Amino acid sequence: MKKISIIVPCYNEQTAIPLFYKAVQQVYQTQIQPLWPQYQLEYWFIDDGATDETLVTLQQLVCQDSDHVHYVSFSRNFGKEAALYAGLQHATGDLVVVMDVDLQDPPALLPQMMSGVLTEQYDVIGVKRLDRQDEPVICSLCSRLFYWFINQISMTKIEQGARDYRMMTRQVVDAVLDMPEYNRFSKGLFSWIGFRTKYLSYENQERVASTTHWSFWNLVNYSIDGVIDFSDKPLAMASFLGIISFIIAIGALIFIVGRAWLFGDPTGGWPSLVAITLMLGGLQLFCLGIVGKYISKSYLESKRRPIYISKDER
Ligand code: UDP
Ligand code: MG
Repeated sequence: MKKISIIVPCYNEQTAIPLFYKAVQQVYQTQIQPLWPQYQLEYWFIDDGATDETLVTLQQLVCQDSDHVHYVSFSRNFGKEAALYAGLQHATGDLVVVMDVDLQDPPALLPQMMSGVLTEQYDVIGVKRLDRQDEPVICSLCSRLFYWFINQISMTKIEQGARDYRMMTRQVVDAVLDMPEYNRFSKGLFSWIGFRTKYLSYENQERVASTTHWSFWNLVNYSIDGVIDFSDKPLAMASFLGIISFIIAIGALIFIVGRAWLFGDPTGGWPSLVAITLMLGGLQLFCLGIVGKYISKSYLESKRRPIYISKDER
């Protein structure tokens, strides 16, 4: 028998979990089992320190289907990236799928993913959503800007609109697990390892239950992490900005000294002086902030703390 592991990070998802399980089971029984009877399903739900009844719901599910359902429960909320890592570590399948529990990642795509891997010989089948119509304009604009920017400055290409939903072979999973870094930006990691990848497109889906855990500022921070984790160009940009403003300042100085010498204007221009001082001060703080961000990342990385702490697993 071969196995497909399904990794599902869950944070306060008590209502979504049973619906998710039912939906995936249905796709498995009607569309996967008849075509690939040698493949069995294995679920790894990761309770990411939920504060609702997520763990109880998972325990009930394990009682109901103990052969196929497993869970790992974290001691606190470590974030989705940590949950994915825990899932990849625990999964034993020949094929591994990462899915959100809210059914925004449609299980109906699973058979297509299977045939992509098994018949077309892809190593990874990713998914990207087509439209962003349900989203506020500002969010979709920012997201486009983020993808454009990160692809400009980073060697690792990140697919526009790609979700974390993907199916991968065991070889790919092992490659991801070989990167035990603390600052995990999955979209970047999955792209960095390479392998033959195909993207399926689909229309965006609504969440089945509860609400998203991402606020606008979460997303902004996530984007900054994505840039910092996969590129050192911002550091070079900081130096570049410094050099440019130095050159402009020298030019302006020559101009001002020359003008005072020729026409005499000893006190004029102090407002512009204040403006320039403020601008340079701001620029310096901005660049210091960029440097600080990298230092804090290496600081966290050098502590070698575990990516998650598991309290209970079954
Ligand atoms: N999630 C998690 N830990 C967190 C936040 C979210 O494990 O700290 C899980 C959540 O339960 C869901 C998935 O990550 O299964 C995606 O979360 P969400 O639907 O809020 O994100 P969105 O789909 O809006 O990007
Ligand atoms: Mg979601």
